[in-house]
Amino acid sequence: MTRIPLGTYPTPVLPVENVAGRSTLYVKCDDATSSEYGGNKVRKLEYFFGAAREAGKRRILTVGAVGSHQVVATAIFGARLGFDVDVVLVPQPASAHAEQNVRLALSNGIHATACPAWSLAPFVLLSRFGRDAYFVPLGGSNALGSLGFVDAALELADQVKAGALPEPDVVIVALGSGGTAAGLAVGFEKAKMKTRVIGVAISHPAFALGVAARRLAASVGAHAGLSWRDSLRAARRVEVDGRWVGRGYGYPTKEGVRATDTGARAGITLDPTYTAKAFACALDAVERGRHPNVLFWNTVSSAAIASPPHADLPKGVARLLR
Ligand SMILES: *Cc1c(COP(=O)(O)O)cnc(C)c1O
Repeated sequence: MTRIPLGTYPTPVLPVENVAGRSTLYVKCDDATSSEYGGNKVRKLEYFFGAAREAGKRRILTVGAVGSHQVVATAIFGARLGFDVDVVLVPQPASAHAEQNVRLALSNGIHATACPAWSLAPFVLLSRFGRDAYFVPLGGSNALGSLGFVDAALELADQVKAGALPEPDVVIVALGSGGTAAGLAVGFEKAKMKTRVIGVAISHPAFALGVAARRLAASVGAHAGLSWRDSLRAARRVEVDGRWVGRGYGYPTKEGVRATDTGARAGITLDPTYTAKAFACALDAVERGRHPNVLFWNTVSSAAIASPPHADLPKGVARLLR
């Protein structure tokens, strides 16, 4: 598997001071995977771009919500590597953050097709497909993309060995399409760590996200060279916490807003859709103190990017922000 490195590793781990509770809290700064554009999609894209190049493809086809970070990351790094990036966009609740994301993606020269409903996305995707296209799945989550987080877990194992942090009892991370949680669980199994993965669901129904993440972990395990027995053990490391979703995907929550303020005071950048909800869960875990050592895995980019010029959004795209 050819991987095209995009990020700078290892990303730092830092203690989070001044939070109320009995557990220690550390943060894994995957917000800083790249100074160009960080977050968790960078590690996945290294494998996708590698596979696309190996297969001789010139165009990347992908799908996501209109404010998706995966779409932004694919746009930025795809442009840098000389791929045409073709994206099918579906609706999500309007927010300043989502709008900023789609502006960024568009300013990187993507070809965008607006799709008015999730249920129609497979048909729109089919219409865009072709032999020149390499398909990157929703959220960049399949067995290949998740290998980026097997690497990430092994990177953390080295940081634990080097004394940068105590071995975490749990990693708390936002759970969407599941590749991040699944890859981490497989990596922790490989490294024979005790660490479990709490995936904080960011859409309904939470249990379905958990099932998908565990299934994915089992297949990532096979890809990463684990026996089927160890792959199942890896899958069982993933738990889902459905208490933080609120109204649904892309809607902010009270707890998330509070967690964002606490994060800002500790120098941690968060977004309303994913990481605010996951950090709220981490703060709650520290307060309850059931797990002595908690690691919050930050997955949103904190790279300073100049805002793209404020042009009118194409009508079809603007209508997806509702
Ligand atoms: C995509 C994304 C996630 C979810 O990761 P999955 O691997 O899809 O579960 C979490 N946080 C942020 C900021 C994301 O953009």
